[in-house]
Amino acid sequence: MSLPPIKRVLLKLSGEVLMGDQQFGIDPAFVADLAAEVKAAKDTGLEICLVIGGGNIFRGMAGAAQGMDRAQADYMGMLATVMNALAMQNALEQLGVQTRVQSAIQMDQVCEPVIRRRAERHLEKGRVVIFAAGVGAPYFTTDSGAALRAAEMRCDALLKGTSVDGVYDSDPKRNPAATRFDTVTYDKVLADNLKVMDASAVALCRDNKIPIVVFSIREKGNLARVLSGKGVQTIVQDN
Ligand code: UDP
Repeated sequence: MSLPPIKRVLLKLSGEVLMGDQQFGIDPAFVADLAAEVKAAKDTGLEICLVIGGGNIFRGMAGAAQGMDRAQADYMGMLATVMNALAMQNALEQLGVQTRVQSAIQMDQVCEPVIRRRAERHLEKGRVVIFAAGVGAPYFTTDSGAALRAAEMRCDALLKGTSVDGVYDSDPKRNPAATRFDTVTYDKVLADNLKVMDASAVALCRDNKIPIVVFSIREKGNLARVLSGKGVQTIVQDN
């Protein structure tokens, strides 16, 4: 099963890919490499929306596990995603790619608020739009933010660039016999609780028929390969 033709894509990057080989934070050299991948994809004529996680800086669940109030910790996590968005904006603009950051938590001095029609206009003008702060509410993740923006911006696919090269039937780090799916349905992902994205994000994509492509962004050139249908990936969609 292959993807439908893609004109507009939402690329979700986990925060952890921004830290490169570090244990925490942002590695500017690695962000520059990621930006080059995004530029290469954009140069093929694609319209690109970006959503970046915050797990390299702060995750609400981790704060809550250490006794913090969950909602408070989640707001910290959302602020982390804004920092990552600014880092990516900087890296893209150093490569000459025009960008705008739109945050679901209003931060006028730093970036625009999320305004769908304005985002449309940015894309028409060839800018990459980076959506920050997830859905703007605690108890969600940037996966849900990515699914929401993919739906409202009518993206043809949601590409999830992460550290693993697809969806496996069990955790490949713990089970050497784990096998990767080439394609899998939304319903199987939800029923078997496969680790793709959180359930609300998968359900939103299913209800809006947005294919999810899970691939490793750590390998150079992989984004372009995945977009041309030649990469190692898992596609989540209906049969
Ligand atoms: N977050 C949130 N609401 C959102 C998006 C993010 O509360 O709509 C918080 C949440 O605490 C999350 C953190 O921001 O743990 C960082 O996002 P995420 O864990 O999705 O980042 P990733 O795993 O992709 O790096």
